[in-house]
Amino acid sequence: MKEKPHDLIIIGGGPAGLTSALYAGRAGLVTLILEKSTWGGKLLFTERIENYPGFFEPVFAYKLAEEMKKQAEKFGAELREEEVIEIDLKGKEKIVITHQERIYRSLAVVIATGTRHKELGVPGEMELLGKGVSYCGTCDGPLFKDKEIIVVGGGDTALEETIFLSRFAKRIILIHRRDKLRGTKLLQEKIFSLKNLEISWNSVVTEITGKERVEGVKVKNLKSEKEEFLSCAGVFIFIGVKPETGFIKERIKLDGEGFIITDDKLQTSQEGIFACGDVRRNSLKQIVNACAEGALAAKSVEKYLEEVRDG
Ligand code: NAP
Repeated sequence: MKEKPHDLIIIGGGPAGLTSALYAGRAGLVTLILEKSTWGGKLLFTERIENYPGFFEPVFAYKLAEEMKKQAEKFGAELREEEVIEIDLKGKEKIVITHQERIYRSLAVVIATGTRHKELGVPGEMELLGKGVSYCGTCDGPLFKDKEIIVVGGGDTALEETIFLSRFAKRIILIHRRDKLRGTKLLQEKIFSLKNLEISWNSVVTEITGKERVEGVKVKNLKSEKEEFLSCAGVFIFIGVKPETGFIKERIKLDGEGFIITDDKLQTSQEGIFACGDVRRNSLKQIVNACAEGALAAKSVEKYLEEVRDG
């Protein structure tokens, strides 16, 4: 189905995309924003946000996402829940094709598709996904009340999620491959004060086992090379993120990990296609930065459209 052309199509409805839509709307651009699953994106993988300026008390992530969405709508952006599978180019026109077989056209595109979790790649992980294996503590934590669980990872996400999960679980074993955590100091302090947490340093999960559901994990100590079986009801994996750029990888320059390379106006290697937020190479993965980049991308689009239309 062919739609009337927009000035700008934004792909991704997290903080970067929604802020871009807000700024584009206020600049009078006819803006469409497409989101494949949930408005707020990765924001919704957290319960409360402590480091978004303007909120002395932590703000609920779902609330912040809801307000960002309403604000984008208020200034005229059209929001649709569709997954983009391809972008074609016809001269200066961008043709955006969605999974729902709709075709949208615009002169400018902003990619704000963010990232998704990495997988461990061990036996049992995929087989037991949703049966005790999870990548989202905020979503699944309450299902593990009074149970023993394993968390894998040592970055900010693993630490934040462990703190959240500690409210439900009877006992958590955090498995980290080094002897030092990567996450922020403040989160480390909170982690070390948890009563129901043990840390297994220099260790990796080699297998997740269970018939119908997770029953335990095999863990190998990288120093001693010894392997042991730990019984648990759930395994939460937070070992970093990878960019959501599969749909665009043929069209624009990406770095070795698939993150989008842009110039300082956030334009990609393809004229008229911009990128902002976590999906961009070297972007500081913080909500406040995603919003700032969303604003800059919209400003750059505004200027780009003026230049194209002035010929
Ligand atoms: P991350 O910072 O890349 O941390 C990933 C963690 O997983 C690291 O501790 C890493 O170990 C470990 N790891 C990676 N691959 C592994 C493997 N195959 N097996 C076992 N362990 C593995 O990822 P993240 O925690 O998802 O955070 C992503 C970005 O978002 C970061 O920039 C982070 O600061 C940001 N973030 C910020 C907040 C906040 O400000 N509140 C919250 C969440 C995320 P090593 O340490 O040995 O590399």
